[in-house]
Amino acid sequence: MKLFDVYNLFQIEPVKAQGCYLWDRNGTVYLDFYGGHAVISIGHSHPYYTHALSKQLHRLGFYSNSVINHLQTELAEKLGQMSGYANYQLFLCNSGAEANENALKLASFQNGRKKIVAFRGSFHGRTSAAVAATDNPTIRAPLNNTHEVIFLPLNDRVAIEHTLLQQDICAVIIEGIQGVGGVHVPEKGFLQFIRELCTKTKTFFILDEVQSGYGRSGKFFAHQYANIQPDLITVAKGMGNGFPIGGVLIHPNIKPMIGILGTTFGGNHLACAAGLAVLNVIEKEDLINNAKRIGDYLMKNLKSFNHKVAEVRGIGLMIGLEFPFPCADLRKELLNKHKIFTGSSSNKNTIRLLPPLSITQKEADIFLNALDQVLKKY
Ligand code: PMP
Repeated sequence: MKLFDVYNLFQIEPVKAQGCYLWDRNGTVYLDFYGGHAVISIGHSHPYYTHALSKQLHRLGFYSNSVINHLQTELAEKLGQMSGYANYQLFLCNSGAEANENALKLASFQNGRKKIVAFRGSFHGRTSAAVAATDNPTIRAPLNNTHEVIFLPLNDRVAIEHTLLQQDICAVIIEGIQGVGGVHVPEKGFLQFIRELCTKTKTFFILDEVQSGYGRSGKFFAHQYANIQPDLITVAKGMGNGFPIGGVLIHPNIKPMIGILGTTFGGNHLACAAGLAVLNVIEKEDLINNAKRIGDYLMKNLKSFNHKVAEVRGIGLMIGLEFPFPCADLRKELLNKHKIFTGSSSNKNTIRLLPPLSITQKEADIFLNALDQVLKKY
């Protein structure tokens, strides 16, 4: 059988990884400024994490959601304490798309409405409602177009006010920082404005923190810079450091009903062990403050490339570098010559930097020097 060919591959096969580095079959070492798409939060193969997972696997890897699993309660407690959402409830699933799908469903169950407001440039996943709320028609099948989604420009207060006051909207979904779209940070005042409007119109406010959450921005959640509390917050990527796990943080006013949501694999023992290990390492190694510190350092230095870089956007270790030219070749050169992985975005002039939160200043300097070398040609 052949693989279903849907990915654009780099001709590199990593076979081993440690911290912020990856090794291929020939022993060539690569610096990871991509984090496997913002997934590697605490660093590759962290010894505390590998130990916690192997210990759990030897004890009990999986059982269904029809029995008590104290690891889920422990994970919810720890996540509540570290994120500042101790009074919220947690629903566990397996991916970012699933987290958003469940958040949208919950909102609709609650207020009985159907229309979703999402933003231009958004990415929320590839399942039914999540992909309908994703601003990319090429990945939506006709089947997905049965959802009613209104796409509005980011930071446009007039448009959101008009839409929410004129129509019955089920939910507004927004990324803490737009990732795939090329790293666009919503204005604090815009998030505060949506919060007020949603409260006024009984619309659910969903913050997709799948990519921007879990400390990447220098706060647990990027939206916490705006001092707001959404009704639903979705998480995945950095949550398991590579083990598939996602979740929805749910406002205490939303009451659960038996059977309303469910999953076979979500919240299994191994996934919870991964989730707990990640939070323990983030706390013990102060990785959220590290993300802010190294993020600020990178940002400051990247801005000094002035005329060669059109714009530097982002917060913490979620950085978008927009060039005045398409940057596919630049990315290739960083990878093939300087052995550094970076991320692309749907905007062909923008690369994304999403390194592990444990990155050091020394590694930041390696990247900055390499970029300096590559940019000499442009
Ligand atoms: N939301 C955001 C903001 C994302 O960046 C992504 C993945 N790129 C998703 C949702 C979907 O996550 P997954 O691929 O785990 O379904």
